[in-house]
Amino acid sequence: MDYMKLAELLFGDIKTTPEDIYALFPERNLPEGAMVTRIAPSPTGFVHFGNLFPAITCERMAHQSGGIFYLRIEDTDAKREVEGAVEVILKAFKTFRLNFDEGATIDGDNGAYGPYRQRQRENIYKTFAKMLVEKGMAYPCFCTEEDLEATHKAQEEEKSNFGYFGKWAKCRDLSFDEIKANIDAGKSFVLRFKSMGNCNNKIKFKDLVKGDIDVSENDIDHVLLKSDGIPTYHFAHVVDDHLMGTTHVVRGDEWLSTLPFHLQLFRALEWKAPKYLHIAPLMKMDGDSKRKLSKRKDPEAALTFYAKEGYAADAVYEYILTLLNSSFEQWRMTNPDKNAREYPFQYKKMSVSGSLFDIVKLNDVSKNYVSRLTADEVYDYVAQWAKEYDEEFYKLFTRDEAYSKAILAIGRGGKKPRKDFGIWSEVKGYMDFFFDELFTPDYTYDEKLDKEDILAILSEYMSVYDENDDNSAWFEKIRALSEKHGFCGDMKAYKENPDAYKGNVGDVSMILRIAVCGRTNSPDMYCIFNILGKDKLEERINKAIAALN
Ligand code: GLU
Repeated sequence: MDYMKLAELLFGDIKTTPEDIYALFPERNLPEGAMVTRIAPSPTGFVHFGNLFPAITCERMAHQSGGIFYLRIEDTDAKREVEGAVEVILKAFKTFRLNFDEGATIDGDNGAYGPYRQRQRENIYKTFAKMLVEKGMAYPCFCTEEDLEATHKAQEEEKSNFGYFGKWAKCRDLSFDEIKANIDAGKSFVLRFKSMGNCNNKIKFKDLVKGDIDVSENDIDHVLLKSDGIPTYHFAHVVDDHLMGTTHVVRGDEWLSTLPFHLQLFRALEWKAPKYLHIAPLMKMDGDSKRKLSKRKDPEAALTFYAKEGYAADAVYEYILTLLNSSFEQWRMTNPDKNAREYPFQYKKMSVSGSLFDIVKLNDVSKNYVSRLTADEVYDYVAQWAKEYDEEFYKLFTRDEAYSKAILAIGRGGKKPRKDFGIWSEVKGYMDFFFDELFTPDYTYDEKLDKEDILAILSEYMSVYDENDDNSAWFEKIRALSEKHGFCGDMKAYKENPDAYKGNVGDVSMILRIAVCGRTNSPDMYCIFNILGKDKLEERINKAIAALN
């Protein structure tokens, strides 16, 4: 067979040569050890939470090594494409501060190795497809869907492996004249790789996460170009990763099975393959068993879930780091004030088996994260979140900025900051009693207390309250009030002889808390009273008294 003639027959319209293309994609000039990584999503309009794992890994590897992190849009499957999907991807990555150095932008490209949308690279793929045909390494296949189904059936009957290979590869040995006749007859064709592999041969492969693995050689004549001339993922990503200078590919381990084919393609094209890191899918517990975090079943699989619930992107980022590198938590404890991006991420420490998604742990990480923020920072985050997701609360929350910030400042700073909430949607429930519009008190006092005592304490409180008191003077007054009404002012003395008192100073504080906040749990009451101010305090206490009568 004259392969040059065949290449001309199939790709007569392709005038560019591999050399022309190489000239457009010069080797990158980066310092020794710099890694070039990429994220290569399909524009389906959905970003899975699990996508953040390879994304953070790639971004860290590139940026910690002085390399490049880029975005390539794998849009070869037009059927799955959704309008505005690139925007969704860019927005999601921006939220998590995963900044691309180059790649697709909303309406174009940024960088010298583009285009970064695969459908705009058709000529490039065809140039290399033509080259493979010239080398006798690729051929047109005219089999129809029905032909392939018949083959599959026959393979089933013979208990053979499935796929287009060996004796089943009917078009592999067509002569030039047969091919020409088919083309002249207007038959459509796909371009297949002519595999020389033998599936009984094992090849050794070193995955940077999974370690040494043995894989079988590929013997299937996989499709390189579909009948519309659009490449398959296999072919396109090999061409792109080579030309774009990718040094490390981080991707889901569902690609491990076709890895031998990818390596074979790199060899056929005489290119050095990048290093691969295959990572297992994110799992979650479902009853007693583990399963993949599923887009269909789990709302938390969608990134939009986190935005809506009001998780801080940086908290989610920290949580993912705890799953990616088990030493992160230790680092965080020793470096409570550092930005998580200062953590020296190591891909070598990534877990081989799939990480387990645990929302309780995420919430815990979030609470810790939020507790380290300043009141001003929390204010900005909450305002931004509420503006989009809770307009009613947004209005109240931003009505008096200083007031809201004072509330948020309670228990903040210091060595042991309060951890009342970890997500912005919890803030309303945390501080609603500060706003009359949201104040729905539950005046349920401890059953052991006498109504008369409650009334007496509440009625007297404003006469002792002084907004100029410091914390200890304020508490002394509650203690004095307690003793006056037969409640023990000293916890130790109370414990020694509880029957001698109606209760203790804790009970009296609780009466005041329920009256003012309308609930039994709240942050520091001294701060609350100060923030509410004397008039509001009096109004609340009068309201509580009225409710008792
Ligand atoms: N487009 C592929 C996917 O969405 C990318 C895999 C890769 O990173 O190579 O799964």
